[in-house]
Amino acid sequence: PIKYLWAGIGDTMAKHIESTFSARNDELNFTSELGIKIGENCYYPVLRDAKKALEDAKEYKLSQEVERTIQNIIVTTGCVSLIVNPEYNSALSHALFYGLTVRQHIEKGHLHGEVVSYGTLVQLMMDNQMELLKKTYRLHEEIGLPICLADLELRRNEDLSDILEKTVINQELRHVPYKVTEELILNAIMKLEDYRG
Ligand SMILES: [Zn+2]
Repeated sequence: PIKYLWAGIGDTMAKHIESTFSARNDELNFTSELGIKIGENCYYPVLRDAKKALEDAKEYKLSQEVERTIQNIIVTTGCVSLIVNPEYNSALSHALFYGLTVRQHIEKGHLHGEVVSYGTLVQLMMDNQMELLKKTYRLHEEIGLPICLADLELRRNEDLSDILEKTVINQELRHVPYKVTEELILNAIMKLEDYRG
């Protein structure tokens, strides 16, 4: 289904953004260094191909873009997951996904990779990676992945503390380069609300 390809794009791009964040400042062993390097292909080729891949897939056209995107979603992400230190597998994108699932409507009405992709934007904003944020945000706009709270049926002025409490205790934030607090996450969420790419 197209929606799985669409959500898979978000989940895959998160792999590069999260693994490089989690591994920052560490001296990497051989397999982790290799895995982090492979992880670049979870991001850059997918960023390049995603829009066309979705368009072609909708028309049942098996183009190089469709093939490569599916391969990167399944093969490349799988390779990274298997060979890096497990602590590098995720970070805020996934922790925030788990936090967001305290809300029933997220669990029921939104796909894993879709919600994770929103977390990637929040992580990039929190980490002040403005170049990558710009690229990722632009793709999200083009293919309809979430860019703001409203896209996840949440309101800007609502209390998000239940979500944030669950997020900061998630195991994916145990090994990160600095302490990721509720305040840091909320601040990034609000900055993202005002961000226009
Ligand atoms: Zn995932």
